[in-house]
Amino acid sequence: MRIETLDVLRCPYCGGRLSLVDSIFHRRTDNQIHDGILGCHCCIFPLVDGIPVLHVLPAATVARDHLQAGRPELARRAMFGLDNDSDAEAFDAVASSNTATYRDTVEALGPNFEGGYFLYRFSDPTYIVAQAVARAVGATVLGGKRRAIDICGGSGHVTRTLLDLSEMPPVLADLYFAKVWLARRFTAPGCEPVCCDGNAPMPFARGTFSFAMCTDAFMYIWTKRQFVGEMERLVEARAPGAEPGAVLIGHTHNERTWTPSHGQPLSPEGYRDLFETFEPRIFGEGNLFTDVVAGGPLDLSRRDSQDTLDKSPALAIVASRHPGVFAKHPLTPPDTAAGELRINPLYTQEADGDRVRLTLVFPNEEYADEYGACRQYLPEALTLDRSAVAALSSGRVSGEFVELLRRKVIVDLPKRYY
Ligand SMILES: [Zn+2]
Repeated sequence: MRIETLDVLRCPYCGGRLSLVDSIFHRRTDNQIHDGILGCHCCIFPLVDGIPVLHVLPAATVARDHLQAGRPELARRAMFGLDNDSDAEAFDAVASSNTATYRDTVEALGPNFEGGYFLYRFSDPTYIVAQAVARAVGATVLGGKRRAIDICGGSGHVTRTLLDLSEMPPVLADLYFAKVWLARRFTAPGCEPVCCDGNAPMPFARGTFSFAMCTDAFMYIWTKRQFVGEMERLVEARAPGAEPGAVLIGHTHNERTWTPSHGQPLSPEGYRDLFETFEPRIFGEGNLFTDVVAGGPLDLSRRDSQDTLDKSPALAIVASRHPGVFAKHPLTPPDTAAGELRINPLYTQEADGDRVRLTLVFPNEEYADEYGACRQYLPEALTLDRSAVAALSSGRVSGEFVELLRRKVIVDLPKRYY
């Protein structure tokens, strides 16, 4: 963790500033803290492998005891939930390897860790909307120099899309240590990970951020009123006349419809009533998806009817006083890859002379049911020149790649993703 991050961290329970307890075991450099104990007015918290753990769940207590006894490796094992020696050793080997991929690391964490479809995450319909809305709102309110937070951001797939919007590193907050650790290492390198509980007050000072967002997680939060109040507090303008910030809750389910992994959603009015200091605008995700599939612009000036909202399985909520937010935002393609350009792993590849035949194949029926809307931009089959496929490694997005990247036939994946 960067030392200066201490300036914005606050204890979630007493609100006090946190500082490194120098008298207890710690490892630090001039600008980073690697391991140690952070103290406030009311408690002490472990900081494990560069990640502050600002909750008091059982693993945090075990990790804290290990750190106090000078055993940082065991503290990390506790936070990863690795409780038998052979699993822990296998994981440590992957974690210390310079060639292990995100997939290798996820597999070393065991079958219960991130089941599901992380391999396809960057092209799924929920993700492409989250990415477009986060970038449109984030670019508007961050101005290249203010700070963003992705709350309940998991392993950082959406955090990744915030990295180039500001010179200030985005904060990624999540309850699961392993996920934010993976994000810092692979999916969102350069982000500042913080391990904390979304059902408790957020461990940050008022007005620390200009953009607070949460996607695909809010329906699982029980303390929704507190959560939104905290998002409002985090982006509160720190001085009169300061540029206004924004709150985004993306992909939250609608009580009036049924969806897989439903959570405890509210109705559109229920979500609106959570806000006290900002007037939110609520969008059905379907129209935003149509904008993205069409290549933009993303129209945040629209006002969806009550009927549209009532029938939308997923909603996006944006709250801001910034005049640039509720506007039409162009979706500008990048000219170079942020990571590695690769053929979308949803395609099988078959060599055919100088050409490569790609065929769309879903991993299973459940995937097709939940994410089948990707057929609106992923063609069933296509053929590329072998030389074009080889040119992906240059990372340049030009010529036919612009359209293939837009349609997610080519994806811009983190380095060493799989
Ligand atoms: Zn405290």
